[in-house]
Amino acid sequence: MDMGIAGRWALVCAASKGLGRGCAEALAAEGVNLVITARGVDALQAAATALRAAHPGIEVRTVAGDITTPEGRATALAACPQVDILVNNAGGPPPGDFRDWDRAAWIAALDANMLTPIELIKAVVDGMAERGFGRIVNITSGAVKAPIDILGLSNGARSGLTGFVAGLARQSKLAAANVTINNLLPGVFDTDRVRNTSMGAAAKLGKTVEEVLAQRRATIPAQRFGTADEFGAFCAFMCSAHAAYLTGQNILLDGGAYPGTF
Ligand code: NAD
Repeated sequence: MDMGIAGRWALVCAASKGLGRGCAEALAAEGVNLVITARGVDALQAAATALRAAHPGIEVRTVAGDITTPEGRATALAACPQVDILVNNAGGPPPGDFRDWDRAAWIAALDANMLTPIELIKAVVDGMAERGFGRIVNITSGAVKAPIDILGLSNGARSGLTGFVAGLARQSKLAAANVTINNLLPGVFDTDRVRNTSMGAAAKLGKTVEEVLAQRRATIPAQRFGTADEFGAFCAFMCSAHAAYLTGQNILLDGGAYPGTF
């Protein structure tokens, strides 16, 4: 299927690795020009080199910096001639017990996983509406639908974003102007983050990382973790011309892990 977005420009945040990288790859395959961001310069340049080699017909620009800071956002936005597609993403907050989190910990989580995407949406959404096309996908988490006790910072901050988006996406000024805003909720995906958190769990439980990963896989009906490629493919469809009637939705990709009917 031709997604109908070749030649458009996308800003994909936190895209040198993992889920953001998967989204960048899938959009590049559809002929979308990219601005990709990440904190580490080396991994970002490596990602850009691979994307350019695989998709010589598109332009790939890089912005190294922390997207959760005003400077990081300003530089990323300035690098994009026009943002037709915005994929909001940043690292997730650390796990822990809420008794140990002070105000600064909460503000950091809110900044990264709620206020940063809102600021970026604010910067691009009216231009999208004027041009009659816009696609915004926020990478959130399955924890929005089924909270994970040790990820209270994520549960809270991402739920705030979700509530905000639910209202904004339904504004006629946006929905009638072919601007959609949706959230894509990963269950467990095979990325560095999952490997790193499993290393921490393994050390605490006195198990090997492979044992912890195998236990996690066994809890998922699909009996495996998702891949960044399949996450990216879904994101590309949500950004496509065909997805114009999909807005304000929370799409869970979790191999069947969420146990509810709806
Ligand atoms: P990852 O650690 O594999 O990749 C993180 C990428 O984000 C890297 O490119 C890194 O440079 C970049 N990055 C992180 N913080 C940044 C910042 N402040 N500014 C700019 N770039 C930044 O992570 P992932 O597994 O792809 O996860 C992406 C998001 O999805 C995270 O918020 C994570 O909490 C969430 N999530 C992931 C899973 C999963 O199973 N992988 C599940 C639920 C939610």
